Amino acid sequence: MTNPLVSENSQLRSQLQLLLKEAHRNQQIMQRYQELDLQFIGANTFQELIDSVFDTLTEASELDVVTLTLIDPEAEIRRILTDLRIDVSDYPNLIFVEQQNGVHDPEHPARRASLGSYNTLVHRRMFPDSVLKPASVAILPLIRRNSLIGWLSLGSLDATRFTPSLGSEILQHRASIVAICIENVINNERLQHIGLTDPLTGVNNRRYVERRLLEEVGRTRRHGHALSAMYIDLDHFKKVNDSYGHQGGDEVLCAVAARIKAELRLSDALGRFGGEEFVVLLIDAPHDAALAVAERIRCSVNGTPLQLSTGEELVATVSIGVATLDRIERSDDAATVAQQLLAHADEALYRAKKEGRNRVVSAV
Ligand code: GH3
Ligand code: MG
Ligand code: MG
Repeated sequence: MTNPLVSENSQLRSQLQLLLKEAHRNQQIMQRYQELDLQFIGANTFQELIDSVFDTLTEASELDVVTLTLIDPEAEIRRILTDLRIDVSDYPNLIFVEQQNGVHDPEHPARRASLGSYNTLVHRRMFPDSVLKPASVAILPLIRRNSLIGWLSLGSLDATRFTPSLGSEILQHRASIVAICIENVINNERLQHIGLTDPLTGVNNRRYVERRLLEEVGRTRRHGHALSAMYIDLDHFKKVNDSYGHQGGDEVLCAVAARIKAELRLSDALGRFGGEEFVVLLIDAPHDAALAVAERIRCSVNGTPLQLSTGEELVATVSIGVATLDRIERSDDAATVAQQLLAHADEALYRAKKEGRNRVVSAV
């Protein structure tokens, strides 16, 4: 007969072993969570953060799909990201929605975490057709300073992974960290954007175009595609100011900037260089194509009269100088080449002015 004390002792031992194993596993999970939090907090840019959310979180938490929905009523976030050349269409799991009615109310159900089976009617917007359909989901509201900024939505193909009875404290903690990090990176991008934007016209400023030009010269040197630049200057702008006042002149600058921008591709760059002068960089555009774009801009500016807020109308014209870089030798200094390109476009502009204005002149 076995001694009852021995048997109890061995039972206790195996229980203790189990508890120790469990404690060890929990410690490992906590450590993984902390590492993940640190990775989120360490993200400097929007891109780094969403990469962490979509890749690292999905993998570390053994999820099948993660999406991030951001409330972006005036499309401001999308505009900033586009201007900073982040293509949001590269991220099918990143969803933008307009403001929802009633979400400011702290009791609104959209402000509470919800866990359970996937329901097309309720969750379709968080898991659009472009992403995998999960079997169970955790929808975690992202709240900053009492305002709902979006949702982090976790999905699993395992129908039992998220159930309404599962505690959501850890998930909610994760969502709070993500919310803070999103607010931070968006504010950083916003600051960057302000520093590279012309406050009057909303197009980029000289700093942006000069920086971008150096990058593009480097790219042209590596890949050999053509890069064109144009200098655009409003004709007789002093007279516009004299006739319509400084405010009228400002409105003309904004309207002309918008007409120039409408003729460009998203990958091109437009900057106000100062006063009534703009510079455009046409990426991957040979000289003939650049001349054609310049002609389109010239026609668009003087094609139809500009409307001022006073109700007055005027026809503005621009002169444009166009220059192109076809090839750069590896030994060429990027800054020198960039300066030369702009100088050639500027000389062509000077000739356009001399030859009578309202025209496009080629540097070659
Ligand atoms: P041209 O055809 O030779 O270019 O003649 P222009 O009168 O356009 O050229 P000029 O360089 O002599 O004058 C530019 C004017 O642009 C002078 C300045 O008062 C005006 N200007 C510069 N910046 C601004 C601005 O931000 N707003 C307004 N309204 N006017 C500006
Ligand atoms: Mg001028
Ligand atoms: Mg000028």
